[in-house]
Amino acid sequence: MLQQRFQDVRVPHISDRRPAPRCEAAGCTETTRNGKPYCTNHVELLPYVNRLIDTLEARDAELERVAKRGPRSVDPQGITAQEILLQLKLYGGRTIARLSRDLMLEENVVESYGRALAKLGCVSIGRHRRGLLLNPEDLSCANPSPASESAA
Ligand SMILES: [Zn+2]
Repeated sequence: MLQQRFQDVRVPHISDRRPAPRCEAAGCTETTRNGKPYCTNHVELLPYVNRLIDTLEARDAELERVAKRGPRSVDPQGITAQEILLQLKLYGGRTIARLSRDLMLEENVVESYGRALAKLGCVSIGRHRRGLLLNPEDLSCANPSPASESAA
């Protein structure tokens, strides 16, 4: 009975009359298959770009929180903490001032990251004639490749 009704409303051959759909990516003239909005090149690219944009927005939001509230807003797995740990892994000890310049972050923000990472035992904070110095302590805190980690 139900099957009969579906057969009655079906419009014959409608898909045969439509032109092949084009990829929605800017400037792309490829056709798409299986009703997808993007061609095979862009169906992979766009989710990646969207993930990247999400990641960068999350980073900016975290930086704002850390600037306002300090070390407790630090995400030790986030991009910024991982960038700092990577710098320390590559170069050894770094002053807050140097990290601030190299990573284009405010010094008070870098200091908050340093304090949060020190609390976790990832770094230690020392004194340097140019201010506070971060030293790497536990490099296992540095995620081997945070950028290639698949987004949740
Ligand atoms: Zn395309």
